[in-house]
Amino acid sequence: MNSALIQENLASVQQRIETAAKDAARVRSEIRLLAVSKTRTAQEIIAAYQAGQTAFGENYVAEAMRKIETLSDYLLEWHYIGAIQSNKTRLIATNFAWVHTLTSSKHAKRLDEQRPAELPPLNLCIQVNISHEQSKGGVDESDVLPLAREIIQFGRVKLRGLMAIPAPTGDFEKQRKNFSILRKLKEKLQSEGIELDTLSMGMSADMEAAIAEGATIVRIGTAIFGPRS
Ligand SMILES: *Cc1c(COP(=O)(O)O)cnc(C)c1O
Repeated sequence: MNSALIQENLASVQQRIETAAKDAARVRSEIRLLAVSKTRTAQEIIAAYQAGQTAFGENYVAEAMRKIETLSDYLLEWHYIGAIQSNKTRLIATNFAWVHTLTSSKHAKRLDEQRPAELPPLNLCIQVNISHEQSKGGVDESDVLPLAREIIQFGRVKLRGLMAIPAPTGDFEKQRKNFSILRKLKEKLQSEGIELDTLSMGMSADMEAAIAEGATIVRIGTAIFGPRS
């Protein structure tokens, strides 16, 4: 997609976030936009960067590594939002600032051991399976608290919050209901003494409902870069 169109789309996504924040009586600055750049070229990422976007999300390690190397002169913040494979944890620990898709203590331990000493701790979100969709992955709600307790023991990773990809629905109230499950789960963990400041939820089609339920990071691909082929 050409740069002008990406920049136009980015402005309208920013507008959507601003309107949704206002409708929810929330402060706009509490909500970060993560531009999901899977399948997009380095040139498309540069177009978004030139319009002020600095945080980018990638789902596949090999694809991400090519772009991270190509774009090493730009001050970008990379977020890993794909399924984690054990043999890729070192690359993830070395090249990303955030991981949104943690689902096991084994992976947390590996990321903790492999996070380079000269980098700040790796920010983590636990991916939760809130609509019980096998294909989307994530841990069951009942397993989140024990996993969180394990992760907070580690020093080189920092548990920031929860992430989910609910089953798609066009119904705003259903979207809200799903996102409210994640919000309540975060509140429950906080009441157990676990410090969290992040809800990674909301994509192109449901970001308004996510913001209404307290999203602090929305992960947006299509609405910025157009449909994926
Ligand atoms: C692809 C993807 C997104 C972006 O989805 P869009 O509908 O294109 O905005 C967000 N989160 C995750 C985990 C994804 O894989």
